[in-house]
Amino acid sequence: MASFSTLLREVRGCTLCAKHLPLGPRPILQLHPHARILIAGQAPGRKVHESGVPFADASGDRLREWLGMTKETFYDPRRVAILPMGFCYPGTGKTGDLPPRPECAPAWREQLLRQLKQLKLTLVIGQYAQAHHLPDAEGSLTSTVQDWRRHWPDVVPLPHPSPRNNIWLRRNPWFESELLPVLRARVAEVFEGETQ
Ligand code: SF4
Repeated sequence: MASFSTLLREVRGCTLCAKHLPLGPRPILQLHPHARILIAGQAPGRKVHESGVPFADASGDRLREWLGMTKETFYDPRRVAILPMGFCYPGTGKTGDLPPRPECAPAWREQLLRQLKQLKLTLVIGQYAQAHHLPDAEGSLTSTVQDWRRHWPDVVPLPHPSPRNNIWLRRNPWFESELLPVLRARVAEVFEGETQ
């Protein structure tokens, strides 16, 4: 089995689906075997592709607020792993960003997840990550998130924090009033148990 650093180097050099990527390969992920929280997201948007920093956009600002997490903690790979379902920007379609490239997860995901031996909490963001990480979830993204107690306290489904989801948030006020307060407490609890 490849060492962690070799594996990460291989991922960062991946060109597997280059011909489908409008801006070319630029895998964006954050990982360290000591990470205790995994953020399983969708795929980088254009702004993140340009910066090379995961969630360096309005979605990231909102996600950090949801989690009660500072940028310092969020971008510490020894505490937080960030693995979208597709590591490179897939391009934009008529109604927003295209889905994560389907080649990516089969090529890399399981080997990378095996590196996370101290994982305590997985945050599963959006429909693509939920289809992969919560294959037993049935129905819509809303019903999967509404059913958040099902996998608690190890796995928590979340909607995408994109500003595009403002209407969803307004329609589902229970998300902010019920889920977010206990999620913030859970995140704090996970870090309380850290042995650095
Ligand atoms: S999206 Fe994934 S499979 Fe495609 S080039 Fe980027 S890292 Fe490789």
